[in-house]
Amino acid sequence: MTQAADGLAALEAQLQQDLEYLELPAKSWVPAHTYNGESVRDVVVLGAGMCGLAALARLQLTGISNVVAYDAAPAGREGPWVTFARMETLRSPKNLHGPALGLAQLTFRAWFTAQWGKAAWQALDKIPKDQWMDYLIWYRKVLNLPVHNNVRVTGIAQVGELIALDLSGAETGRVYSRRLVLATGRSGLGGFAVPDFLSKVDRRFWAHSADNIDFDALRGKRVAVIGAGASSMDNAATALEYGAAAVDLLIRRKEMPRINKMTGIGSQGVIHGMHQLPDAWKWKFVDYTATTQTPPPRASTLRVSRHANARFFLDCGIKAVQQQENGLLIETTQGALHYDYLIAATGFTNDFNGRPEFAAIAPHIRSWADGRYQPIMGPARQSMLEAPDLGPAFEFRERTPGACPILAHIYCFNDAAMLTHGKVSGDIPAVSAGADRLVRGITASLFSEDVEQHYASLQDFATPELQGDEWVDATPLLKQENAL
Ligand SMILES: Cc1cc2nc3c(=O)[nH]c(=O)nc-3n(C[C@H](O)[C@H](O)[C@H](O)COP(=O)(O)OP(=O)(O)OC[C@H]3O[C@@H](n4cnc5c(N)ncnc54)[C@H](O)[C@@H]3O)c2cc1C
Repeated sequence: MTQAADGLAALEAQLQQDLEYLELPAKSWVPAHTYNGESVRDVVVLGAGMCGLAALARLQLTGISNVVAYDAAPAGREGPWVTFARMETLRSPKNLHGPALGLAQLTFRAWFTAQWGKAAWQALDKIPKDQWMDYLIWYRKVLNLPVHNNVRVTGIAQVGELIALDLSGAETGRVYSRRLVLATGRSGLGGFAVPDFLSKVDRRFWAHSADNIDFDALRGKRVAVIGAGASSMDNAATALEYGAAAVDLLIRRKEMPRINKMTGIGSQGVIHGMHQLPDAWKWKFVDYTATTQTPPPRASTLRVSRHANARFFLDCGIKAVQQQENGLLIETTQGALHYDYLIAATGFTNDFNGRPEFAAIAPHIRSWADGRYQPIMGPARQSMLEAPDLGPAFEFRERTPGACPILAHIYCFNDAAMLTHGKVSGDIPAVSAGADRLVRGITASLFSEDVEQHYASLQDFATPELQGDEWVDATPLLKQENAL
């Protein structure tokens, strides 16, 4: 595939023209704030993966320009795509608008076609994952987004009405912000979901699917992968391709999930309507999806099953894992099995206490378990009970009113928001709609907080539209006429 650099330059010029036509970015309108003489950010975005970039872009386009995103990862290595995502291509179809924010020239399709042409676009099946990262790198560059890489936020605290953020890495010290967006990714506010039976097993013998795994070391080894989702297929396939002697997928379910239900009913109605539904309906949708589960993509499954040394064990629940001198003895509902290594493709959790940087706010975050869930809605499911109970713009709510007021200024723009907001803050399809909802909320809240200054600006504004020479006051003439 040949690449046309001038095609990309032309696309970038067209994008700039479109932005100009649409008067974007809008003029900056948020009054500057300081704290002890230091300037205060209007918004800090924590995380510069796809959601963080979309949020940052939407903020800038809306004229909220005193913003920055921090990401612990080096530039170009944010999120899973070139780190722990072990699929060959994206799981979603190629034509999704993703983070394009309604701007056609900002879509993956425009970026791809500008460089490789329409025929190559037609021939493309799914987007190679590394190429998706290249697109996100371009997105950030072409919009000139202020991302500071290699900076980890290690703590969050309330200082007056502000949010103080402690930084480490390429930048250190404390910065202050009026609003904070948590675009911290799939693990949301928690971390890896790890089954109890692994809690005492030495890390030499197992990894989570999102860990940095040394697959070279698995050559010639017997590997077990727990789970039947996309990540279990990707990790099993990678182990097989690196020369593992045998890879077994241990799947608790009696049958593989085969139908992607939520994708099946995807529509603008779902995107914009789900968050307005009564809570009982939200619960019903998410519970049903969790029960039916999302199948792994067909291509990812075939990438495993084409290896003769791959085996799928269904109805194979794990009862216990015993660490032995040179490996693991796994007692399953189908009998005992021996392995050298285990990969737990067991997903992520919203346990707020799982991330040290959120320690100060975690105990105060209201979740669905704190009264929003009622048994009449359906079965109590732990992963849903621990979901944060968010406001209409993704803002957290306090468990005890008054205990941590800054939560109302911290926005949960990640996968953990799904139960309250639908799937608009994690996956590619509706991230632009999510960023829009988020930024409308932040806009309204900043405007209302500064209302006195805006009113003073209204009073102070003194640039005349009329110079006074555009008309003649005819009242004296009328008086003269009446006097006659
Ligand atoms: C393996 C995998 C494959 C996926 N494939 C698809 C797919 O094909 N289609 C689809 O629609 N969705 C897919 N998803 C789901 C979703 O699109 C991705 O998870 C996507 O990366 C979400 O973007 P994000 O910005 O929310 O999080 P991320 O891309 O994970 O970005 C979060 C960022 O936050 C940073 N961060 C976190 N904490 C801190 C901190 N304290 N300080 C500084 N930085 C911090 C991290 O370094 C990271 O770069 C996939 C997810 C995974 C895990």
